[in-house]
Amino acid sequence: MSIKRVWRGDSVNTCVACKICQSFAPRVFKVFDKMIVMPNVDYIKYENEILEAVESCPTGIIKID
Ligand code: SF4
Repeated sequence: MSIKRVWRGDSVNTCVACKICQSFAPRVFKVFDKMIVMPNVDYIKYENEILEAVESCPTGIIKID
């Protein structure tokens, strides 16, 4: 898989700011009151960490293409 796009898809559930995603991939995810996806990141370089974050997010709102 080559990840081209990462975003917060919280239309149903919402981010609870637990910072799990940031702990896996701090170059990709930053959490303040909610998670933001950092711009201009080479997602392919952090693919495993991003996939771990997607699987571990308790609200399932991290989306990837
Ligand atoms: S793991 Fe999910 S709920 Fe937790 S901060 Fe990241 S996006 Fe938000």
